[in-house]
Amino acid sequence: MDAVNHYDAIVIGAGPAGLTAGIYLSRAKVRTLILNEGTVGGQMVLTHEIANYPGVENISGYQLSGIMKKQAINFGCDIRANISIKRLELNDLLKQVILSDGTVYTAYAIILSPGGRSRTLGVRGEDEFKGRGISYCATCDGDFFTDREIIVVGGGNSALEEAVSLTKYASKVTVIHQFDHFQAFEHAVEEAHKNPRIAFLMESAVTGFNGNEKIESVDIKNLKTGETSNFRTDGAFIFIGYVPNTEFLKGLVSLNKWGEIIVDSNMSTNIEGVYAAGDSTAKRYRQVTTAVGDGTIAALAASAYINDLKVKQKQPAEI
Ligand SMILES: Cc1cc2nc3c(=O)[nH]c(=O)nc-3n(C[C@H](O)[C@H](O)[C@H](O)COP(=O)(O)OP(=O)(O)OC[C@H]3O[C@@H](n4cnc5c(N)ncnc54)[C@H](O)[C@@H]3O)c2cc1C
Repeated sequence: MDAVNHYDAIVIGAGPAGLTAGIYLSRAKVRTLILNEGTVGGQMVLTHEIANYPGVENISGYQLSGIMKKQAINFGCDIRANISIKRLELNDLLKQVILSDGTVYTAYAIILSPGGRSRTLGVRGEDEFKGRGISYCATCDGDFFTDREIIVVGGGNSALEEAVSLTKYASKVTVIHQFDHFQAFEHAVEEAHKNPRIAFLMESAVTGFNGNEKIESVDIKNLKTGETSNFRTDGAFIFIGYVPNTEFLKGLVSLNKWGEIIVDSNMSTNIEGVYAAGDSTAKRYRQVTTAVGDGTIAALAASAYINDLKVKQKQPAEI
């Protein structure tokens, strides 16, 4: 085995869950590698401002992820970004992570923290107008809609908070939501309601996007009356939830019907030595703080598992 490619622990995913796991593991002198598919930071880097991270008053997601990354590296953690995982072998004592470029990494413990991504509406015109008026990231694209009239689709915390943040650019933001009430924290609902640039279309669903070069209007169905109408808009931001990035784990660890990784209170999966943390796990609340908490628990449990394993390996084999 190539010694260079062996670690005690490998963390898959460098969002807040994975970076926290990296910080705790490396600080406990567990040789750790974090592998990340895209840019380090995960969904945090899509967030223009994180106002609810305790101890830090106002910070952008990009800045917070930069600090977490620095902390992990300072404790000795290796991080490889922009990789692609081809295959995982999780059942043996020594787990293997095989990358598409042919690199093979081995480790005693694996922490899965691949997070999630935005859910799409799946309606006519959505694929066609992605990046041409349709966006899933206010921080990334809000500026393109300065003095324009836009819609926000969704009724959770992200939808309402991002609707408020988009009023810095857009002259009018209409929030379109399928129910007659929001599934968001009280303060998020209040903030949106008191903003004079925000209007609401409740019990309504977007059924299609229309336009030429860019979107010009959306088709809307009133879910109470069944009536359809055409609503003029310059842009659409869609915040209707998330899908866990767990396709590559199907058949390897236990997932629930939504594809979320099933874990116990130690963040252990059904496979010995394999843990999971953050938004990709089966849980109700998905925040930076909860991801960080999960990452802590997974790292402490993995660390104890690795120590036990090393102690056992030093004992003479039982007959
Ligand atoms: C627009 C928006 C605004 C938000 N605002 C807030 C907020 O204000 N406050 C708050 O607390 N939370 C906020 N959240 C939620 C918060 O960002 C997430 O709960 C948190 O980032 C989840 O962390 P995670 O580490 O589990 O996953 P993620 O942040 O999703 O990170 C997962 C990482 O794993 C990588 N990955 C995925 N698949 C693989 C693979 N196969 N191999 C290797 N790497 C992989 C991804 O590229 C990503 O870097 C917001 C989310 C969004 C989308």
